[in-house]
Amino acid sequence: VNIGTEVAHLLVDGFDQFNPLQAQLLALLASRVQQTTITLPQVQGRENTLGRRFTEARQRLTTAFAETGESLTAHEIPVLDDLVRHAGLNHLIQNCFINGATPISADDGLSLIEAPDPKIEASAMMRQVKRLLLDGTSPDEILIAVRDWTLYAPHFDHAAKRYGIPTVMHYGDALANNPAIIALLNLLELTRYDFRRRAVLDVLRSPYFAVPEMNDEIINQLDVISRDQQIIRGRQDWLDAIRLAAVSTSDEDGERHHALLNADEANHLREILKTFFEALTPPESANINQYIAWVEGLIGSDTTTAPDDDAVETEAPLYSLNVLAQIRQTNEVFEARDLLALQKIKSVLRGMLATEKLFAVLHLEQTEQTNWRDFLQDFKSAVGTATITNNTNRSGKILITSVTDARGLPHEHVFIPGLSEGIFPRPTSEDPIYLDSERQALTQAGIFLETQAERAADDRLFYELISLPRKTLTLSRPTIQNGAIWPESHLWRAVKVSFDDADTNVESHKIQLGGVVKAEEAAHRSEAALAVADSFNHGVNDESTNSLYNWLISQHKEHWQHIFQSRSIELQRMMSPTLDHYSGRLEDARLLDWVAAELGDRRIWSASQFNDYGMCGFRFFAKRLLKLEEIEEPETGMDAAQRGTVIHAVLEDTYRELAQRKVSITPENLDTAMTILRDVATRILPDAPRKYGFRESVLWAQEQVTLMRKIEALVRADFSDESPLGKKFKGADRLAYMQEVPLGGEDSVPLRINLGGNVVKVTGYIDRIDRIGDRAIVVDYKSGSTTIPTSEMTEGRNFQMMLYLLAGEAILERESQTDTNAPTNMVGGTFWHLNGKLSGTINIDESEDADALAEAQVRLGEHLQQGRGGNFASVPNHKGGGACSHYCEFTQFCRVNIMNQRKRA
Ligand code: SF4
Repeated sequence: VNIGTEVAHLLVDGFDQFNPLQAQLLALLASRVQQTTITLPQVQGRENTLGRRFTEARQRLTTAFAETGESLTAHEIPVLDDLVRHAGLNHLIQNCFINGATPISADDGLSLIEAPDPKIEASAMMRQVKRLLLDGTSPDEILIAVRDWTLYAPHFDHAAKRYGIPTVMHYGDALANNPAIIALLNLLELTRYDFRRRAVLDVLRSPYFAVPEMNDEIINQLDVISRDQQIIRGRQDWLDAIRLAAVSTSDEDGERHHALLNADEANHLREILKTFFEALTPPESANINQYIAWVEGLIGSDTTTAPDDDAVETEAPLYSLNVLAQIRQTNEVFEARDLLALQKIKSVLRGMLATEKLFAVLHLEQTEQTNWRDFLQDFKSAVGTATITNNTNRSGKILITSVTDARGLPHEHVFIPGLSEGIFPRPTSEDPIYLDSERQALTQAGIFLETQAERAADDRLFYELISLPRKTLTLSRPTIQNGAIWPESHLWRAVKVSFDDADTNVESHKIQLGGVVKAEEAAHRSEAALAVADSFNHGVNDESTNSLYNWLISQHKEHWQHIFQSRSIELQRMMSPTLDHYSGRLEDARLLDWVAAELGDRRIWSASQFNDYGMCGFRFFAKRLLKLEEIEEPETGMDAAQRGTVIHAVLEDTYRELAQRKVSITPENLDTAMTILRDVATRILPDAPRKYGFRESVLWAQEQVTLMRKIEALVRADFSDESPLGKKFKGADRLAYMQEVPLGGEDSVPLRINLGGNVVKVTGYIDRIDRIGDRAIVVDYKSGSTTIPTSEMTEGRNFQMMLYLLAGEAILERESQTDTNAPTNMVGGTFWHLNGKLSGTINIDESEDADALAEAQVRLGEHLQQGRGGNFASVPNHKGGGACSHYCEFTQFCRVNIMNQRKRA
């Protein structure tokens, strides 16, 4: 009641507008205090344009004071040249937005920076800020005002941390951006998407959660198992995958894959994961209090602080992820940030509870029970609108604030970024009721209506901002948006036309896309190193570069030496024709010994191992010795390998049955073959997803139809007069003889082959062996359409057919011991593609093919020697040498493509 009666002098400063209610309140307050002084800016001579906001504020005050019966006397302070303010800035204030004003030189009062994007723009501004600080300016004298807080605040924050500049951000971060809160929301979403693989692993690996009984080893096992078994989501799928991980398997090459777990380990892992799933599954329906207690139970209590009096009372949770305890284990900065966010989350939960109680008291809604989906939705909405309050004191720090909050805060140095179209001024949509043209017409007719630009009022806002600095004003703008030129805003142009040296000013501060920070502007060690290296590369040897170089080698000697050495290695890779230990040639004696043993007698090879080496030594090294493999997220549906396996399985069983029934491959037996094929497919296809480890996609039914159409076409061709096999290998009564034949025979002992005196052990399977009379041919199905010409073999890139023919001879030899009617020798072999084409056909009777086989053995012998000698040079051998295969997952390791690009540049 007595508000203001004891106040002697009320001073209202820093406002540029008042709405009618504010004006009335101020007038009422003024009637109680002894004396009131209100300051308001004005733009003399431009009261109805730039100064309209101030004129209106003054009119509202006049009206309100008159209604209250208070007198209000206006004291107009004439425009004086501010002698303290930089002359160029005085000129800008007086002439900005005036057509035809005579431009002057901005001198050092103004900097105009153009940078490719807001991130580089913010860094450029912060470098200028750092320069001011180094020159003795107090941080309290510097203000950064941004129009688009969401776009610019993170970049300024990042640049400030990088350059070690003390700043205070006016607005706190959005709660939803805090990493701990993101992790918590992801955790709460797990059940909604039925425990998606990636999301489960992210939660398990999150540093914010201590999941009971889970450790790194267990989580890595789950990662491998779920990839292996193609888990996409689903708690039962997860549990089934763990069970299957305890079973050993073999692949097409006959290479054995041992079980990832034994039975006890699998049972234990299943129990841990089951408990996790159950604990992370909220009740379907509960009241708000119960859901809040459940969430708080997962977060866990903070055992290191006194209990929070306000906390919602909960029973000790049976399963907690101890988020608070985890946060306390991080470093100080993260701990403070995340604890603040967790506090906020707790207050959001309490707010939800309070709202619920209020609704109940007011009988607004029947609120006893709700469901998890609605609760989570409300919780996420509440988190989405919450911010983490920033209570940091400004003193000794640079203030970064929004343009609206910067008004009325004069500083020595002011920075305003974002003067490109769509940022500053902020775009506003045209009013759908009155178009701008209609608004202008109505205004002329005496009915005042603001246009779109006037509604935005950014011109006036900008004018207020450029009136703030006394010594320097720095403006900047981004120049590239989505790869296209980003036009400057009219505010940028308005400043430029006020100065005759504006173009030079822009040019001297411009940052090109991919440009290096100049030596004299570098504000971080890595920028300094880059600037020096760039100058030296371009033969620049000026004072800034030299002094920066001297600083680097005296203060950061190791860093500079590291850069220097890396550069020498890169140059060696680019320029030198000799390959060294940076390009895949092992030199260390211990490594050479290890490789010799690893690729020696004990190694069991396969055709694809030889092919990998033949394609590129480095590829073999990365894949087969380092055992690196690309991590691929499982997807629904078959991948190419699984598709091939399904096709092979159907053809294998079909031809096995044809062989057992001794049905010769001739046109008259086509119907029998098709009947058998369809029976086999009916048996195999429905079980294929489970057996071959893929998830049925919605297209699975259609995929089966497409697969069958192709397989039927192949069998039909095989049984026709036009059979590609029949044409290549002539003879009556061709019969399917053997299917899926192990190279070393039925006892699966690896085949031994002699390569120029080196005996190697090889494993694998031949898809099919047909017999024509007493001779045999090898058939290998290829589900892909890329052909494998014989030159792939002679040029040392694909040894599959050569191995199969050598193995075929051994297999026939062995068969003859138990089967007096076995074929006596191999006639050749071919790759048969599902599109009907043959490729890589070898007919041993033809001398050219026989030579090709011999040549391939020589090539393979050479590869073997090189590999055993530690030569895994990154020299690709695709397309006759020099090219990498279409896709190679190791391109980031060998860097051949990167080097090739650099050589071309
Ligand atoms: S990208 Fe080329 S050079 Fe590198 S490993 Fe693969 S094939 Fe070899």
